[in-house]
Amino acid sequence: MTRVRFAPSPTGHIHIGNARTAFFNFLFAKKNSGSFVLRFDDTDLERSREEYAQGIETDLRWMGIDPDVIVRQSQRFALYDAAAQKLKEMGRLYPCYETADELDRRRKRQIARGVPPVYDRAALKLTDEERAALEAQGRKAHWRFKLEERTMHWNDLVRGESHIEAGSLSDPVLIREDGTYLYTLPSVVDDIDLGITHVIRGEDHVTNTAVQIQLFETLAGKAPIFGHHNLLTTASGEGLSKRSGALSIASLRQAGIEPLAIAALATLTGSSDAVHPVASLQELGGLFDLSHVSRGAARFDENELATLSARTLHAMAFGDVVSRLAQEGVSGAKAEAFWPAVRGNLETFSDVREWWRVVEQVIDPVIEDAEYCSAALALLPDEPYDAQTWSRWTAAIKERTGRKGKMLFHPLRLALTGKDSGPELAQLLPLIGRVKAAARLSGQSS
Ligand code: GLU
Repeated sequence: MTRVRFAPSPTGHIHIGNARTAFFNFLFAKKNSGSFVLRFDDTDLERSREEYAQGIETDLRWMGIDPDVIVRQSQRFALYDAAAQKLKEMGRLYPCYETADELDRRRKRQIARGVPPVYDRAALKLTDEERAALEAQGRKAHWRFKLEERTMHWNDLVRGESHIEAGSLSDPVLIREDGTYLYTLPSVVDDIDLGITHVIRGEDHVTNTAVQIQLFETLAGKAPIFGHHNLLTTASGEGLSKRSGALSIASLRQAGIEPLAIAALATLTGSSDAVHPVASLQELGGLFDLSHVSRGAARFDENELATLSARTLHAMAFGDVVSRLAQEGVSGAKAEAFWPAVRGNLETFSDVREWWRVVEQVIDPVIEDAEYCSAALALLPDEPYDAQTWSRWTAAIKERTGRKGKMLFHPLRLALTGKDSGPELAQLLPLIGRVKAAARLSGQSS
């Protein structure tokens, strides 16, 4: 059974780059009839905040990602303590007492001598007495994982055959001297405990993978499958930051960007499929394939989002927007014909309010030429109206007045809608109806 996780730390708002990781995991789970775990990496109790965790959950659900399971690392310390204990007993987790300054000096000496600045494992050589003496001085241990010096291979779902020489790495610190955990161990312990089969994450984590595979193998016998995708960058090549709040999902929602547009952009940028509007996450899932994700940069132009969002709206079926229309006050007998009439003119969904006002509520008509409008009013057909009413009416006006083109149509648009441009009047007129049309043509607010 496939099980994946999206593991943000709740220290800020997630942005479209984080959404890329979330969608990759979610679509991968859906494709394989698996499940999706939302794991909050909140071991940093100072920087993590509940409001960010809630915000992330809201953002994910708004984008159509409903987690099957939600866990918080802050509630799972007992598991990490047990794993640390096990590693200590196996002789794979050892106490070190160097200060940051000492380590820094040692690194500089190594570099000067032309040797790689890898931790020299001096702490492994300490005798019990030396350790006791250091502790008596008030030093507290931080704990390092003793790596086996071998080449770690994995077949990356995105990058293909990959390897890292563990012997070229410093033994990683898993526990700080104040007893808090760095990200490495809790992540592995949770992935084991939750039965994660595939770890799909950004390529900024590739360097963690050799260490984590060794931890998996030590604690559970085997590691999950890994896939590291390229990170989204802005058109100018800049990375996205959680802290700046730029391109956060919350701000895009506020700007009226469609969630499906975010999904398409986050998923298809930097893949072999061009970014284009999709009608559902299911459709996007059919296009998505980790092996189609390029290894090069995944640049996107943030100005494309608004256009993609509008194009996404223009293709939406009425059935997919019924409840959203109701939330904007659009419901009743006219709603179903209203949607296809106006959707092609929407920039954001909330623009429906203005067009609903035009067909259902009161507007101030703009009368450019009162004489012309009253001539048109005299020819206004009786109801019932249909899609041909407009062309029959305007043909009659043309014949009577000799006007054509913009001179014929534009004053009618201004009178009927109060606006310079908008949806096809052939579709709007039946929705506006004769009573309102007649009042507006004679200059009355209606
Ligand atoms: N909390 C980590 C991050 O946001 C998770 C990394 C991982 O997926 O293993 O980068």
